[in-house]
Amino acid sequence: FSEDLTGKVVLITGASSGIGEHLAYEYARRGACLALAARRENRLREVADNAREIGAPDVIAVRADVANVDDCKRFVEQSVNHFGRLDHLVNNAGIMSVSMFDDADDVTIFKAIMDVNFWGTVYTTRFAAPHLRSSGGKIIVLSSAASWLPMPRLSFYNASKAAIAQFFETLRVEMPEVHITLVTPGFIESELTQGKYLNRGGKLILDPEMRDVQVSLIPVQRVEDCAKAIVSRAARGERYVTEPKWFRVTYFW
Ligand code: NDP
Repeated sequence: FSEDLTGKVVLITGASSGIGEHLAYEYARRGACLALAARRENRLREVADNAREIGAPDVIAVRADVANVDDCKRFVEQSVNHFGRLDHLVNNAGIMSVSMFDDADDVTIFKAIMDVNFWGTVYTTRFAAPHLRSSGGKIIVLSSAASWLPMPRLSFYNASKAAIAQFFETLRVEMPEVHITLVTPGFIESELTQGKYLNRGGKLILDPEMRDVQVSLIPVQRVEDCAKAIVSRAARGERYVTEPKWFRVTYFW
């Protein structure tokens, strides 16, 4: 059994690029209405236009920084006012810093990671939860294989992803009327993994000159395939979206 997504109202954070952008297209293909959030307004508007063209009956784009509790509240309120209900919340917005713990130039980045990856997810969920409870809706959470693999240079990122995984495992028990799908991808090529968040002591995860060799060693996924797997498996009611082969990422580190 797979949930019919036609006309369902889906909120996606971090929809201006990468997995979030392609989640918007995947839901649009299945006829869902979309509320999209991120900080880069122009990119978000482009994604909204593409999603309408692909088949989403109605799309709103809301500029929001998920690290800001008021922005999260406004995003959810605007969505409910516009659509009258919520069915899926996709907590996807995330950032990363790549450096050894004691090499980082600027330690405030570590706090920023928790503010976005952990607190941003908590805030958005807090405001959306009453609406999802009444619709018997779903929460889809982008954690990461990093939540269980101790990957060097990603200590705070790993910790933030482990924190949200455990947070949502607990919400499953507290909120049985809302279905929760925890997604723990391995390595996906996106702005996040292409060095956008490099810090001193960091290294590009995929070295442009060595890319082909690296890709033959570690399973690298495309954002499109990841988004497709997430939407179809969440619609089937799966509680986890993960792949054992993603463990191979460890060897690379
Ligand atoms: P991208 O960098 O392409 O996407 C991240 C998205 O998050 C962007 O749309 C960005 O938009 C948004 N974002 C970042 N900070 C904020 C903020 N403060 N408020 C609102 N939106 C924000 O990376 P991915 O698509 O790869 O990452 C998506 C999710 O998947 C992340 O949570 C990541 O941790 C997770 N993930 C990724 C993996 C990978 O290998 N790529 C593996 C496992 C998990 P903007 O800058 O416009 O705000």
